[in-house]
Amino acid sequence: MLSGCEAARPLPGTGTVTATPTICDMCFWKCAGKVYKEDGELWKITGNDDDLHSGGRLCTRGSGGPGAYLDPDRLKKPLMRVTVDGRQTFQEVSWDEALEYISIKMRSIADTVGPERMLMLSHGAGSAHFRHLMRAYGSDSHAEPAFAQCRGPRDVGFRLTFGESANSPERTDMANARCIVLLGSHIGENLHNAQVQTLAEALNRDVTLITVDPRFSVPAGKSKHWLPIKPGTDIALLLAWMNVLIDEDLCDTEYLNRYAIGFEQLAEHVRDYTPEWVYLETGIRPDVIRETAREMAKAAPATIVHPGRHAVWYGDDTQRSRAIAILNALLGSWNRKGGFYIPESIALPAYPLPAYPEPKHTTADAYPGKWPFASQGVTNGVIDASIGKDAFFTGWLVYGTNLPQSIPGVEDKLKAAANSLDLVVVVETMPSEMTGYADVILPECTYLERYDDLRNSGERNPSLALRMPAFEPRYESKPGWWIAKQLGHRLGLDAYFPWEDYAEKLDWQLRQVGSSLEEMQRIGVKNFPRSRPLYYLEGERVAFRTPSRKIELYSQQLAEKGFDPMPVYTPPDPVPKGYYRLNYGRMPSHTFGKTTNNPLLFQLAPENQLWVNPLVASEWDIKSGDYVRLGSPNGTVSDKVRVRVTERIGLDSVFMAHGFGHKSKRLRLTAGVGADDSALMSNIKVDPIMGGTGMRANFVTFVR
Ligand code: SF4
Repeated sequence: MLSGCEAARPLPGTGTVTATPTICDMCFWKCAGKVYKEDGELWKITGNDDDLHSGGRLCTRGSGGPGAYLDPDRLKKPLMRVTVDGRQTFQEVSWDEALEYISIKMRSIADTVGPERMLMLSHGAGSAHFRHLMRAYGSDSHAEPAFAQCRGPRDVGFRLTFGESANSPERTDMANARCIVLLGSHIGENLHNAQVQTLAEALNRDVTLITVDPRFSVPAGKSKHWLPIKPGTDIALLLAWMNVLIDEDLCDTEYLNRYAIGFEQLAEHVRDYTPEWVYLETGIRPDVIRETAREMAKAAPATIVHPGRHAVWYGDDTQRSRAIAILNALLGSWNRKGGFYIPESIALPAYPLPAYPEPKHTTADAYPGKWPFASQGVTNGVIDASIGKDAFFTGWLVYGTNLPQSIPGVEDKLKAAANSLDLVVVVETMPSEMTGYADVILPECTYLERYDDLRNSGERNPSLALRMPAFEPRYESKPGWWIAKQLGHRLGLDAYFPWEDYAEKLDWQLRQVGSSLEEMQRIGVKNFPRSRPLYYLEGERVAFRTPSRKIELYSQQLAEKGFDPMPVYTPPDPVPKGYYRLNYGRMPSHTFGKTTNNPLLFQLAPENQLWVNPLVASEWDIKSGDYVRLGSPNGTVSDKVRVRVTERIGLDSVFMAHGFGHKSKRLRLTAGVGADDSALMSNIKVDPIMGGTGMRANFVTFVR
């Protein structure tokens, strides 16, 4: 049952089959693929065999790409908020009307308070067109949930230690690792394609997999050691592992002597975090802590303590990421074979354009003095700075991010911000909850109908990949580059948009590196040789991008700002009686709420399930398949969610996949199906170092 969406046909007939290159946009990983058509009609999407980035394959969600194109609930025309009979509603308007309205408002904001008061909130590769527009307009004010609600603490923690981030895609050398340690990282449940493939290959090579997770996750089931840790105690375990490595003289001393500072302070710092003491906090037996530390050391430097991705847990997340980075440093695995590699991208020249005007304000001016190590805008900070008559921001351009589901407990703030702001523009393909807060909704076409920038990620094998239209945009949707150019024209910024078609810009860039659009339209992916080794050479002198030019086990930067220079363990809040920790994660067939309305993927997984331990289920008299509602301590009650009774979760927690429980009725398949975990979160632990939104300290109970 496809609910109005035609399925792609399973096999071609006798017609002419063509293949058009694409880059998947079903998640951020950017796998290159090909769109096959027969006589111009969609057949299927597969991976591009030449794409080393994806191993030539697409995951389930990528193969479900036709569903995004065919979804009958897509946004079809520009919409504007109007008041009819005293009630607000949306009315279809022409592109001219919508763009004219936005440009008049943006001009007014620039003239009255300055262009920096116009903020962009975004997610995804297509946002680059609008970042370009906003910077040409004079605003560099920008934030994305991918920072404060996801990987920000990890990137800041690694940068404070190594001077570089763990990168995206992660620079883990799993292809050569002999030991991999996962802390709350659910590779296989989060189906980041190439990473899953390399982990599967590593397991075939008999890699030692150590998984630390209170839940018996998919990777826990593949592990030599599963450490079912008490939630919130990971820093204690990491410090105990450091204690064992130092106490048993298992660190890579030569590497540390050459590259690191602060070893003596660290040794002193972790002296009291003995496995025996840490056992009482984590529930992990001292002999297991010692054995796993020895396994890591035995395989080092081909050991990866994985940096993870969704790193916002308990508000001390930059420090936990620092602890992961420090542990990797003790093992000598940073930029060593089997540990981490040095990523490389193509030096692709920027298209010659006028310089952007210098903004008078940065994003951080909206929340002065807060979160000194935030390397990007902090979403909660900019939302708070958009509320009230003296708000810092007076306009928003929101691209591809559904804030009500990305940021817990934000709905009241979004309502207040929408009431305060002079302009809220939302550019989207789907009628997400965020579109309900807009003054103007601009329907972007899907990734299968547009050009975007070339993929040029820093990784093991440098490559370029092309996304190009396989189809004309359906309905009245338009490509992001076209929308940005039209707004630029109306704002007097034509000099920043000299191309008639984005293909011209891409062709110019490709010709600078010896290729062309014509070539890329044929091959989709072009691989280039590396210009430097994948790892440090033996004894190589390295200047790290830290203040000391060394790996900083002890961080003077943190100390100077009043933070702990080395990670310190703080016990988590206890679980209130009658409540359970709310644990959440991914499922392989969906990219959170972005894909739950996709008619093809909906068939695979229409709803999320609530994992409940059998003893807890018996206490509450619930069975697998029952529907329950959950309540949070602040009185919020969830939609119904289906129970899955399983011993794979402990007595103190429940678990569900994020991205369900949509409220937007225009998402006709998924609206009201499953429960939304973020709506149940009220106990948010903000990371004082970089502003991350710690979301794992929330509790729920069953509502009878
Ligand atoms: Fe698409 Fe899957 Fe690759 Fe993400 S991991 S880009 S969804 S194929």
